[in-house]
Amino acid sequence: MNKQRDAVLRTIEEKDVRFVRLWFTDVVGCLKSIAIAPAEVEGAFTEGFGIDGSAIEGLTRTQESDVIAKADPSTFQLLPWRRDQDHTGRMFCDIYTPDGQPAAADPRNVLKRQLAKAADHGFTFYTHPEIEFYLLRNVDGQLQPADRAGYYDNVSGGTAHDFRRESVRMLEQLGISVEFSHHEAGPGQNEIDLRYADALTTADNIMTFRTVVKEVAIGQGVHATFMPKPFAEHPGSGMHTHLSLFEGESNAFYEAGSQYRLSKTGRQFMAGILHHAPEFTAVTNQFVNSYKRVWAGDEAPSHIAWGHLNRSALIRVPLSKPGKAQSARIEYRGLDSGANPYLSYALLLAAGLKGIEEDYELPEEAVDDIPMLTRLERKAMGFTPLPESLDRALRNMEESELVAETLGEQVFQFFLRNKRDDWQQYRAQVTPWEFDATLNLL
Ligand code: GLN
Ligand code: MG
Ligand code: MG
Ligand code: MG
Repeated sequence: MNKQRDAVLRTIEEKDVRFVRLWFTDVVGCLKSIAIAPAEVEGAFTEGFGIDGSAIEGLTRTQESDVIAKADPSTFQLLPWRRDQDHTGRMFCDIYTPDGQPAAADPRNVLKRQLAKAADHGFTFYTHPEIEFYLLRNVDGQLQPADRAGYYDNVSGGTAHDFRRESVRMLEQLGISVEFSHHEAGPGQNEIDLRYADALTTADNIMTFRTVVKEVAIGQGVHATFMPKPFAEHPGSGMHTHLSLFEGESNAFYEAGSQYRLSKTGRQFMAGILHHAPEFTAVTNQFVNSYKRVWAGDEAPSHIAWGHLNRSALIRVPLSKPGKAQSARIEYRGLDSGANPYLSYALLLAAGLKGIEEDYELPEEAVDDIPMLTRLERKAMGFTPLPESLDRALRNMEESELVAETLGEQVFQFFLRNKRDDWQQYRAQVTPWEFDATLNLL
């Protein structure tokens, strides 16, 4: 730890770094940043940097608004988009209360608590996200898709093509490995897949990723959005995430002789996620808009089921190559690109561990294209729907012991209140669709 701190202080000196940004995340998943002078960095490691948490969504209760941000030296990086001006570094922080306790409502702490539980079972949790987003262009004051390309299209000389190259280059400079990237199905829609890493690193990487993509977009005169479903007529943006548990060096999801080479642990973990999905969907799909993605088809899963080659399933089990135990994993396809990755990963892990602890039974594999079945067929086959709205998802969450326990009382209550407000505001809207569909009738 001290060696890492020293290395950071040395880099700051050698590279003549002028500002160091302290990064942390609020409960709804927005990145927060405070720039400090290099002389303050040592203190940010030891006693921490005092901040007023009262204006930060969910971070504190009003009566305890002062909190302390302690920089994590292992996350120090120079920001590539600041290189030609004053050198700027950044570190993620853990938030503490003034009496030195990890702050209950720091999303990074929520995930760390759950990772410690996994460690008690001997597990490390790895994740690998596929992040989809739209690039938009301002046309006469209206944001429209930046190109007209589709799935895997090569856009010659187009914005999206250069855009991905520039973003991947910047991510690599920040120490984030990118596995691949391509144009997605919607016009202006792109996907970048990060290499797997432990869940805390991945969650930090997703926060960095969103910032990088937005910075590159600004530099190219376009706008990037992670909104789950920006256009009714085009697919939404998912954040499918591949999950696995390791015991030391060995992948606990791998078993050579079993179906899809998925071990009993892997099956129980998957059963846990399927069982608890209705309860935690309010967090993995946290916006009113999230449910427009879930219920619009376009390969976004809407029913609780698992499958192998089935892209309508909520969880897909890709077949790991024989002898390639490292790659055994399951793909959770419910998450959208607007989710808070710390809270979402904590809940996926908690649900999976519960499946292992209580030996949940895995339902039958889904081989049908689920949206093509009739409602009655789906019911008979046991494919229950995901919540159909934020309202429904919040009602499920309210009843969930697993979610309350994993998020902790403070985050749990704040989240429900904050999202309930969103729903009330949405419910009060008179939409253009209603206006058009009703006005002339009456
Ligand atoms: N956009 C789809 C979703 O929202 C995913 C499409 C794909 O990657 N096949 O989940
Ligand atoms: Mg993909
Ligand atoms: Mg995709
Ligand atoms: Mg996928």
